[in-house]
Amino acid sequence: MKKVVIIGSGINGLVAANYLAKNGYQVEIIEKKTFTGGACIKDTVSIDNKKVDFAYGATVLGMMPDFIFNETGLSKKIHAYYPKNPKLVYFNGEETSTKIYQDNDRLEKELKHKWGETGKVNEFRNDENKVVEFIQKLYRNATSPSIELANQFLGKELTSLWISGTAKDLLDHYFSSEKAKLYMGMTVIESGPASIYDPGTAFTIPLMDSGSIFDGYWGFVKTGIWKITENLTEINKELGVKFYLESNIKEVDSSKQSILFSKNNKDTKLNYDHLIFATDPITPSKLIKDFENQNSLDLIGTSGKVTAFFKNPVRWKDANNYSDSFRFIFSVDSLEDFENASQKALKNNGDYFPGFIQIYPEGSAQRNMDNHEDYDKLIFFTKNLSFDKKADNVSDIKDRIISKVIPHIENPEDIVFSKFLTPMDLNETFLFPEGNIDHITLTGNQNYEKRTFSNNKDNFYSYHEYDNIFYCGAGSFPCGSVAGTPGYMCSKQLMRSITKK
Ligand SMILES: Cc1cc2nc3c(=O)[nH]c(=O)nc-3n(C[C@H](O)[C@H](O)[C@H](O)COP(=O)(O)OP(=O)(O)OC[C@H]3O[C@@H](n4cnc5c(N)ncnc54)[C@H](O)[C@@H]3O)c2cc1C
Repeated sequence: MKKVVIIGSGINGLVAANYLAKNGYQVEIIEKKTFTGGACIKDTVSIDNKKVDFAYGATVLGMMPDFIFNETGLSKKIHAYYPKNPKLVYFNGEETSTKIYQDNDRLEKELKHKWGETGKVNEFRNDENKVVEFIQKLYRNATSPSIELANQFLGKELTSLWISGTAKDLLDHYFSSEKAKLYMGMTVIESGPASIYDPGTAFTIPLMDSGSIFDGYWGFVKTGIWKITENLTEINKELGVKFYLESNIKEVDSSKQSILFSKNNKDTKLNYDHLIFATDPITPSKLIKDFENQNSLDLIGTSGKVTAFFKNPVRWKDANNYSDSFRFIFSVDSLEDFENASQKALKNNGDYFPGFIQIYPEGSAQRNMDNHEDYDKLIFFTKNLSFDKKADNVSDIKDRIISKVIPHIENPEDIVFSKFLTPMDLNETFLFPEGNIDHITLTGNQNYEKRTFSNNKDNFYSYHEYDNIFYCGAGSFPCGSVAGTPGYMCSKQLMRSITKK
């Protein structure tokens, strides 16, 4: 029986372990922390002596392929759904929203009416669907991404627009209004300050819609998203996966295929046939003995999160009947201002350059899933924060974020507590390099076929020159998120590399 050791028990380590264990591999996971889950975990606060759980890192589910949800066994344990109501968008000073309908014709009419959009809204959605269908095929077959394959499947024009091109060119091609460009292009800075002028950034736009669990949309898990990693840990234990928690790895000796780690002050040595790092990509470079890496990576993360707790259900001034809709509040009105804000954050020219805030109505969604909690919860996911300050030192920024949302709410006096995390907190809490939620920034140079650490053309997930060391954390293709796609693709490619020998 071949033995695979996996370092890291976030969603990707857990998904890789699941597929390998089911295919007859002996799997052992070494985890630094006292618990599994990585950035998909809960935290608990006590308000008026009532304990409330909330999503500490990741909050919403959307990028997971439906086959991973089903094949791992998660679908039998998890209740999840996505809102069918339109998403709601507010630009500076707007009290009523523009509605992002799921129906294309309705959306086209709304954008024309509200934003004066006269471009190709329908064509954008249709072309995006073709790109998404292509990427989903790569996921399912665990096929390494390449420009050649994209050209074959999509043709040269769509490939250069949607995959190798700049986000700016893609948006200019389909849309006439600045507001439509901003809304459709905002995910370019999802994890960090990628420039819309950078070739390869166009790909982030379809990438964020490429999950199939909710048909490209984003939604909620009953109780909280951490139930995904909690349940997968239990499923894996039943499959025989062995976990070493609270373990401090001292060294990986690639020539002897062994790992030395200490747990409870006792040293343990494990041998492996194959080793997978399901961590950030800097960790293997530090742990592998004699490893020399000349490559530098764009790491900077500028995303942060405020969780606000309300003692009564939130009442929205606009569209309260759509209480489970995602809402987006923009502080910029043009692509140029959007770019300037994110690039100032990259240069660390200040502590916060407002771009847009995504609002996740977690409490309303929980009630829709028949989970009635003592407090309502809203999450404000924010961009363009400096990456070198802890939340405790920039509480004025938390107040600015909350005060941007408050004018839209009837009952702001019901906020009883809020918790803020900056990129530096994410670095300390989740060990993300420079606080990046995708482990490395989704710049053009680290997107699609370039999101790999392999020197081996046939093995996209192998780590540099090593044949039996792999990397499948959020820094590998396709990207971060609670999806497990890199973990799945890596495990499949690992198994294939053995069959080939
Ligand atoms: C605030 C925040 C909000 C987010 N929001 C969302 C969201 O709403 N939806 C979404 O889909 N995604 C979201 N994300 C992103 C998502 O959570 C991550 O991309 C994803 O969880 C990464 O999974 P992973 O398995 O690749 O890595 P991780 O979850 O980072 O797991 C890596 C594991 O490796 C362990 N490890 C590291 N070093 C070592 C070592 N030396 N030895 C042993 N173990 C080690 C770590 O402790 C960790 O358990 C968010 C992230 C954050 C932080």
